[in-house]
Amino acid sequence: MSDRVINFGAGPATLPVPVLEQLQRDLVSLPGLGVSPLEISHRSAWFRDVLDEADGNLRTLLGVPATHHIAFCQGGATLQFSMVPMNLLRGSHRAAEYIVTGSWGAKAAREAIKEGPVREVWSGAEDFTRVPAAHEARLSTDAAYLHVTTNETIEGVQWPSLPDAPAGVPLVADASSDFLSRPIDFARLDLLYAGAQKNAGPAGVAIVIARREVLDRAPDGLPTLLDYRTFVEHDSLYNTPPVFSVYVVMLVTRWLLDEVGGLAEQERRSRVKASRLYDAIDASDGFYRGHAESGSRSTMNVTFRLPTEALDARFVADADARGLAGLKGHRSVGGVRASLYNALSIDGVEALAGFMDEFAGAHRGLGSDG
Ligand code: PMP
Repeated sequence: MSDRVINFGAGPATLPVPVLEQLQRDLVSLPGLGVSPLEISHRSAWFRDVLDEADGNLRTLLGVPATHHIAFCQGGATLQFSMVPMNLLRGSHRAAEYIVTGSWGAKAAREAIKEGPVREVWSGAEDFTRVPAAHEARLSTDAAYLHVTTNETIEGVQWPSLPDAPAGVPLVADASSDFLSRPIDFARLDLLYAGAQKNAGPAGVAIVIARREVLDRAPDGLPTLLDYRTFVEHDSLYNTPPVFSVYVVMLVTRWLLDEVGGLAEQERRSRVKASRLYDAIDASDGFYRGHAESGSRSTMNVTFRLPTEALDARFVADADARGLAGLKGHRSVGGVRASLYNALSIDGVEALAGFMDEFAGAHRGLGSDG
């Protein structure tokens, strides 16, 4: 494992090494079964146990109450941009409300418009540097639902805690990039969705955790696999699910429970890691400029810029040469993005913070092309 880089990529992202080692042991033949997890039937007792343990671990980690169902869907978080409004907006004669704090929320809203009326009740507009204060978004009491993005992966803008939806309005959250990084209050949350490939596992599965009563509202006539009720009635086994990806999600949740010790501890670690980088930014005399405003800074994706684009590129290349990989900002915003998902160690962050100090020392005052 010594040739592994420190992977700051935004997703698919770094996974816990003990999970990868377990997969390596199981890959050719699951003990006692003689088949690979890539070959085994989704109707096998083994996979039934995997699904049950994944469900149970998620419930324990997140405190998911019996009122909520956990579904394993395909199509990534992007398909949820469509499934949510197909199920909750289509035919409802109401409008859906979106608080748009970044590029993903904007995309989600654009998909919802295809299903019914959408109101952007607040938008961080072009540069997306913060979430709104409670009084800034005017919310209706009769909306079909209110949609938020808990963490905007591209801009590095995160809600410090979930906003309140008006009574009777379901709160829907895209939690793709901070899922399982901190506790979340399902008493206030009606539907959460997350692509797995950041904190929860590999690409290929999206996790949906939703109040059963909300999932029952779908209009008739939806394509079978786009109707949440199919996943509830068949326990995510209507068709062949992504067996291997679900297996990895189960192992990651087991790792979070057994090795990390739960989400309160995971949140503490995430804060320590993020603070280390934001401190390096703030102590750099303006050499590094953070993108997000301080109250909205993400613990998962730390975004910043150097004095010039040439220095951004030099920083990313020099870091990469030292085994600090995946730091290039998203193509739409540029700069640098360090993603600090659960499996990224505190030591890895220390290495990056040290490199940041060194790089700033070497390039500060060297002029525009560094
Ligand atoms: N929402 C957020 C917050 C994301 O970060 C991403 C992917 N980076 C998506 C949605 C889209 O996810 P997917 O690629 O799984 O469709």
